[in-house]
Amino acid sequence: MTKRLSLELRRMAFESHDACVSCGYAFNKGDTSHLGYGNDDEPLYVCDKCAKLLKETAIRHYFMPRPYILPVPNSKLWRYMDFTKYVSLLASRGLYFTSADSFEDNYEGAKGLKNHKEKWDSHFLEFFRSAIKNPPPEYKHGLSEVEVENQASKLLADLELVGMANKQSTFISCWHESEHESEAMWRLYSSFLANAVAVRTTYESLYQSLGRDPSIYIGRVQYIDLKKSYASVNDAFWRKRKSFEHEREVRAVVHDLDCKEQGKVLTCDLDQLIEEVFVSPKAPAWFAELVTDVNKKYGVQVAVSTSELIEEPFF
Ligand SMILES: [Zn+2]
Repeated sequence: MTKRLSLELRRMAFESHDACVSCGYAFNKGDTSHLGYGNDDEPLYVCDKCAKLLKETAIRHYFMPRPYILPVPNSKLWRYMDFTKYVSLLASRGLYFTSADSFEDNYEGAKGLKNHKEKWDSHFLEFFRSAIKNPPPEYKHGLSEVEVENQASKLLADLELVGMANKQSTFISCWHESEHESEAMWRLYSSFLANAVAVRTTYESLYQSLGRDPSIYIGRVQYIDLKKSYASVNDAFWRKRKSFEHEREVRAVVHDLDCKEQGKVLTCDLDQLIEEVFVSPKAPAWFAELVTDVNKKYGVQVAVSTSELIEEPFF
């Protein structure tokens, strides 16, 4: 294995994650996926059967399904924000990702409820004990029961430390998935301010606008009942409590061990990202003009619409 991973190869493995690009075989958990290059140095992401097409194997992966569900490409995504944040989006020509550590929801990245931790701990202790006692056939662990116990406990403590540290190195941009504008979201994310806007995009546009970057994961949050289940080690940033279900959140997630800030801006093609901008239903008439002027100032060509919520009814 050469470990040579070009952007094209990483992107191919990212986009075709679930299936072999040659024969279309749908990978199952535990299968091997092969990443490499064919005779003409073209990138390939293939199954065992098609691995013979590889002239160079870069790396092999133990296949794991994505920890999140992909929205359909034209699924509409909304981001409600006050005017200052909108101007900052335009001025920075980038999307702000907030550190998971600075979210108000202190369950962000959590595996479960504290009073269920004992069960979780004993499950992983048993898992680590078994792994230590059953090394590959050519090795002998040669450890006493006490040493096995100490090592298992240390691994468990490390797992928890990593879980805490991940909160600081995980950055998230949150979106609301819906066909329609939402009155509740205006209330929640713009405090129903007069000077607020909602940006509408689609899953595909969000992905494209961030440069089809295989290190940015975009998917649906799943809402779980923590009284009955846990988030697993890889799922933690893709699970939230049932009480947040109304958010219908799609999030973009990126990991960065070096960034020590509360958030980071990732370059984003705004013309691709922003399909339409809606101004708050509480906004005065001149506000839409202001938003249009600001768009012009920053060279973003996008339609500005008034909220559908203020359309007049008849009886
Ligand atoms: Zn195949």
